[in-house]
Parts: sequence; C-alpha cells; structure tokens
Amino acid sequence: MKIAFFSTKSYDEDSFGSILANYHHEITYFETKLDQFSAPLAKGYEAVCAFVNDSLDKNTLTLLKENGVQLIALRCAGYNQVDLEAASSLDLPVVRVPVYSPEAVAEHAFALILTLSRKTHKAYNRIRESNFSLEGLTGFNLYKKTIGVIGTGAIGRAFCKIALGFGCEVVAFDVFQNEEMKDLGVKYVSLEDLFSQSDIISLHCPLTPDTKHLINKTALSQMKNNCMLINTSRGALIETKAVIQALKSRELGYLGIDVYEQEEDLFFRNLSEQILEDEQISRLMTFPNVLITGHQAFLTHEALAQIAKTTLDNITQFEKGERLDNQIALK
Ligand code: NAD
Repeated sequence: MKIAFFSTKSYDEDSFGSILANYHHEITYFETKLDQFSAPLAKGYEAVCAFVNDSLDKNTLTLLKENGVQLIALRCAGYNQVDLEAASSLDLPVVRVPVYSPEAVAEHAFALILTLSRKTHKAYNRIRESNFSLEGLTGFNLYKKTIGVIGTGAIGRAFCKIALGFGCEVVAFDVFQNEEMKDLGVKYVSLEDLFSQSDIISLHCPLTPDTKHLINKTALSQMKNNCMLINTSRGALIETKAVIQALKSRELGYLGIDVYEQEEDLFFRNLSEQILEDEQISRLMTFPNVLITGHQAFLTHEALAQIAKTTLDNITQFEKGERLDNQIALK
C-alpha cells in the first residue's frame, strides 16, 4: 500500500526503513503535522500514518477520505487525537499500536522520579563547572515510600513492578482492578485515599472526557504536603494552572512531566531560537523542583522497532482484507 507518514522524524525513517523491505508497502515521509491544512498532501495515498500530536478531527478526516485515504494507522497507543465518531461515519478504520514497550514508558517515569529525588540534573551541571559542593543536593530514599499509581494497564503494571523492586508500598486506582498486581502486593484504594496516602503519584490512565483535569485544585488539596507528581501519560490529565498554584504555595513538592497540556505547539520541534509564547510552560521551567521532558518516554530502540513492526502489520492486515486486530472500536 502507498502510505503517507506525517510528523516524521529521523528516528521514524530509521525504524520503519530498517524493516520496510519485509513488506510490500511504499512510504512517503512528511515532516509536517497532519491537520486540515496538510491533509491534501495525502492525495493518492491509501493509508495515512499519524502520531500523537497530529490532529485527526472531523475536517481533516473528511479531507483524507475525499482524497482517497482508506485507513488511518496510528503509530502510537493513545488515540485522544482522533475523532472516532467522525472516522466511523466516514467508514475510515483507525488502527493503533496498543502495546509496544510498556517498560520504555515506565522506566522513563522512574528516570523522572530518581532525577527529582536525587537531584542528579543539578549535580550534572555543577560537576561540569567543577563545583563539587553537595550543598542543596540532599535527596530522599524511595525505599518504604508509598507510590500511588493511577491506571494499572500495560504501562502502570510495568511501573508497579519497578516500584515494588525499590521496596516501595504501592497503592493503585483503576476502574478495573488487576489480579496479578494484587498478588504482587499492590493495594487498590479509592482515588481520594491514593491522593492522601502517596508520597509519589504517577499517572498511567488514558486521556478521556472522564480523566481530563483529573489532577485539579481539589485533587491537589487532598495530596500530602511535598508530594511528587509524575505524568508520562497525557498532558491534559493535569490542570496546569492548578499545578502551578500548588507549586507556588509549596504544597506540591515536585513535578516531573513528559507530557504537557499545550504540548501540540511546542514538542518535537527545536524552538531554541524563538520566543516562547506559552506563559504556563515558561513558568513551569522556572521552578527548581520541576523536570520536563518533551514526550520522549516512548523513545527507545526497542519501542521504536516494535512500533514499526506492529504499524506495518496493521496495514498489511487491512490490505489483505483480514480482521484488524488493533482497530480502535467506537465505544
Ligand atoms: P492501557 O490501556 O493498557 O491502560 C490504561 C489503564 O487506565 C487501564 O487499566 C484502564 O482501565 C485505566 N483507566 C481508564 N480510565 C481510568 C480512570 N478514569 N481512572 C483510572 N484508571 C483508568 O494503556 P497503557 O499502554 O498503559 O498507556 C497508558 C497511557 O500512557 C496511554 O493512554 C497514553 O496516553 C500514555 N502513553 C504515553 C507515552 C509517552 O511517550 N509519554 C507512550 C505511550 C503511552
């Protein structure tokens, strides 16, 4: 099939390029983000491959359909960027990569936690300037701390296992409880109890209308003083304004985020020569107890290889008229 890739980076070309010979597909890589303005680029392609910050709203999907596109293949797990109702009414199946490397994201969440808890980001900068002072670098142990995990799906479960390995108490909240986690010692509690008991809270649930701004002023007021909040899931799970206020009032102790509510206009691009217009991320960047990475939790060789394989397998299933194992069902 002829596939138009959007929002592509060199690592996409590397991971897909290295296995493309095993398939009969033809890929054109477009660096531009997919939206209603770039959708006409897909004219003449049978499938479109999109990523997390592409905008697959009704207008874009309608244009893709009019231009002959028959399949939307997401090369990611989350699908909050797609208007599924519009896709269904246009008879455009949407497939995704539901699981590629949950460990990649879970380990990145721990990279954020350990950097903040042991201040290695500060130590790195100090040592480069021959400043070997330890003043201000006192951290805290993870051992015996309580970690609250919201969402014990594939990534949340990998995260729980790492946390248990550190000797943490793990409490969790999910709309479905997982028996394997319970057997390993994870205690499911209410959301309110998770907020009030946890020293560290890590978000691993999807972004849905129910979970938007799950972390708001009320939730933050229920957390322990000095709590650490980690988000590697989706930016809008956190109400950024409320989190900034909690950091300013010193109630929230640490914030580690790989995703950001307004990341669409910022992430995956080099803006180092530009003036940032976004006041909220600019404010977040000023806090010494905030660590931001630009949606890179998925970015490991292992995860990229699996994303490429599953995406091309999904497209092959469609081409052969087979059942689409990874089609997103309209709820
Ligand atoms: P998953 O579907 O395996 O698990 C999600 C879990 O969240 C499920 O157990 C589900 O029951 C639970 N859940 C749903 N609604 C909930 C609610 N209201 N409250 C509590 N739990 C709820 O998904 P996953 O593979 O573990 O991925 C989780 C999220 O991580 C994705 O939705 C995606 O947004 C994000 N993600 C981020 C990156 C990154 O690079 N930063 C990479 C991959 C995925």
